[in-house]
Amino acid sequence: MQTTKKDIRTLSKEDLRNFFVSQGDKSFRGNQVYEWLWSKGAHHFDDMTNLSKETRNMLEAHFVINHIKVDTMQHSNDGTIKNAVRLHDGLVVESVLIPTETRTTACVSSQVGCSLDCNFCATARLKRMRNLAPDEIYDQVVAIDQESRLYHNRPLSNIVFMGMGEPLMNYNNVMKAIDMITSDEGLGMSPKRITVSTSGVSKMIKKMADDEVKFKLAVSLHSAVEEIRNHIMPFTKNFPLPELREALEYWYRKTKSKITYEYVVWGGINDDKKSIDALVKFCKYVPCKVNLIEYNPIDDGEFQQAAPEAIDAYIKALENAGIVAKVRRSRGKDIDAACGQLANKS
Ligand code: SAH
Repeated sequence: MQTTKKDIRTLSKEDLRNFFVSQGDKSFRGNQVYEWLWSKGAHHFDDMTNLSKETRNMLEAHFVINHIKVDTMQHSNDGTIKNAVRLHDGLVVESVLIPTETRTTACVSSQVGCSLDCNFCATARLKRMRNLAPDEIYDQVVAIDQESRLYHNRPLSNIVFMGMGEPLMNYNNVMKAIDMITSDEGLGMSPKRITVSTSGVSKMIKKMADDEVKFKLAVSLHSAVEEIRNHIMPFTKNFPLPELREALEYWYRKTKSKITYEYVVWGGINDDKKSIDALVKFCKYVPCKVNLIEYNPIDDGEFQQAAPEAIDAYIKALENAGIVAKVRRSRGKDIDAACGQLANKS
């Protein structure tokens, strides 16, 4: 149902305090409501039992609490869970719970669809419908935390912004969500357990460094050869590699935080010596490690996982240069929950 009432969780604590004062009430009411909304996760104003009925009705008259709804949950046989998450306006995004022996990671979305046009990614075909609000991002994390406790008997340990969308094209909302996730008034998670992945929006990488963020940065590089990168990720024509390099150097100078490069090796695209040499060279600019991600086919003839020998050649070259490289096997492939497969198919 469409409503013109404002989502109360777009208000900061200060906004809420001011709102109560404007209603002739005490500002500390704002703190109480804030606590209900975030740390206590209230879904209805009537849950806020330390407020009078009158106050609850007043809130109801002004605001709504938009909560996401997990429409469907798919379980992979490797323990991965994919949530199809319904937003208040009916749109759907996906988030994924990825369990390993020692951790549970939530992979969350930042946009409905995606602003970018990576040719190898299923999400890119959806086009961007809109940015997610901070509470919509936060709620995805809460839902996965609950599932982690229920199915794996432990709380969520890590978060990666590697679901649908480009987090740095929804910068403000992603930062607000991370503030709540890391705040003691929210989930109290350490920012060191959060990774934001970008396909390389240089300007915003610099902004993050200026904002002195404490989470980790991953960059979807996929090629350190300009023409190849432009071909597989057409938008990168606006974000050339020298600019990306400069932004990453800036990031490291300011944050002293190592960068992770995500890299898929495709047959006939970047499985040659020139590509390997270019990556090794690029990796020397800033302290980093490389995750070689397995390709998840998205019914497209153009892209194919490279032969194992090509991956070995990458590993060898990187290790010889003293760079840590790991091969990341896909998780949740059977339910289309792996990297690049999130496309609201269900
Ligand atoms: N837009 C951000 C966040 C998405 S992260 C970014 O690009 O970093 C999703 C990761 O999966 C990115 O590294 C992306 O390049 C990678 N990916 C996309 N499609 C893929 C596919 N079909 N197989 C494997 N990885 C893919």
